[in-house]
Amino acid sequence: MVGSTITAAGAFLLKVLGGLWFADFISGVVHWLEDRYGNPEWPVIGHTIRENQQHHFTPRSFLKGTLWTRNREVLAIGAAFLAAFWAFDVLNAFTVSAVIFGVMSNEAHASAHRSPPENGRIITALQKTGLLQSHRHHAAHHRKGKDTHFCVLTNHVNPVLERIRFFQTLEAIVTRVTGVRPRPDLSVNPRYRPAI
Ligand SMILES: [Zn+2]
Ligand SMILES: [Zn+2]
Repeated sequence: MVGSTITAAGAFLLKVLGGLWFADFISGVVHWLEDRYGNPEWPVIGHTIRENQQHHFTPRSFLKGTLWTRNREVLAIGAAFLAAFWAFDVLNAFTVSAVIFGVMSNEAHASAHRSPPENGRIITALQKTGLLQSHRHHAAHHRKGKDTHFCVLTNHVNPVLERIRFFQTLEAIVTRVTGVRPRPDLSVNPRYRPAI
């Protein structure tokens, strides 16, 4: 009886962690698409792409606004996914965890740009475990050509994707199939200065 309870608790925990890592992976795919192929002139999502590119120049610009204004779009998307999972009867610990952590990815990214005093003790402690992405880990995205370490939720998924050259391989496939090349980030062009 005790053994089966522990097994069930372990299985639940694995599903929640799996949801966290899957959400981290999706955050990386979306960030990669914005950074490497996104155009700020696109309708609807253009302003999100512009803000993301802007934060490569001025990382703290990512923190402007309120919790609500930073997250209302992603909250609406999360609610739509939960409704769809409910309608298709696939609501479970993994899918709910993936949606909740996916909705939180914007704020996880923001926390990686705040100082420890701004983040408070709990978030700082979580960042030290790597379950929430640390400043040092996220700096790898900003330090290089903004073409690696796209995942923003944890410290766990980026090393795996970098080791297997996941995004570089995807970019090679996209170029081969469509002829479209990824766009080097404007912030790595020393002659370019954004209109702030
Ligand atoms: Zn950032
Ligand atoms: Zn980026």
